[in-house]
Amino acid sequence: MMVEKKQMLYEGKAKRVYQTDNPDYYWVEYKDDATAFDGKKKGTIKEKGYYNNQISAIMFDFLKDKGIDSHYIELKGDREMLVKALEIIPVEVIARNIAAGSLAKRLGMEEGTELSKPVLEFCYKSDELGDPMINDYHIDALGLATVEQMKEIKKQAWEINKLMVDHFKDLGIILVDFKLEFGLHHDKVLLGDEISPDTCRFWDAETKEKLDKDRFRRDLGKVEDAYQEILNRLKGDVS
Ligand code: UDP
Repeated sequence: MMVEKKQMLYEGKAKRVYQTDNPDYYWVEYKDDATAFDGKKKGTIKEKGYYNNQISAIMFDFLKDKGIDSHYIELKGDREMLVKALEIIPVEVIARNIAAGSLAKRLGMEEGTELSKPVLEFCYKSDELGDPMINDYHIDALGLATVEQMKEIKKQAWEINKLMVDHFKDLGIILVDFKLEFGLHHDKVLLGDEISPDTCRFWDAETKEKLDKDRFRRDLGKVEDAYQEILNRLKGDVS
């Protein structure tokens, strides 16, 4: 698509979003910057921008193929993609299959414990407040999304979880948990943001080795290799 990149709209922790000459489209640039623990830990992961852009493009194409549309339109080189302009709904949706991270801590569960059923959680997207967990009543009362929009978001999130769990299983990867964001494009609820090792927990099915941002959060080393491994498996390259 012939679209021109214009001025930057905002710069987030991992991406820059630009306007284009068409108000319906944004241009997203993925950065190598990495943060964790509400921005208290900062660093860079070499080539992360490239990996996350490519991985997200593959995941959005995969979901589109299975009937789940997203903001993704097309790649614009190594680290950039063209997306549909979304008015982001300030609710982070977390899907969990295995206890890890904040859930393991909060409920006193051992990391790696399989949940008898997948779980969805919602957090209010607010850096100042540290993305506090909220429920449907808060979302309705605060006017973050309508009841109808939440119904649609949950339907899509459950479907995405099922599709992704199965797909990664075929690639020898356990999808532990992940975060999604949705937005409105001409009043339609659309999947946005990214799907990458920054926003998902991936464990190798055989070795249980972590192949995601936990390598950065917990100083486990070989961070870049993990991101590259996820891209390779998605592309069908065996290493
Ligand atoms: N996650 C994310 N952004 C956030 C919080 C969480 O992408 O602001 C992802 C995280 O990578 C993991 C899942 O959501 O795959 C669940 O994260 P959790 O609540 O366990 O928080 P964490 O332990 O990462 O602080």
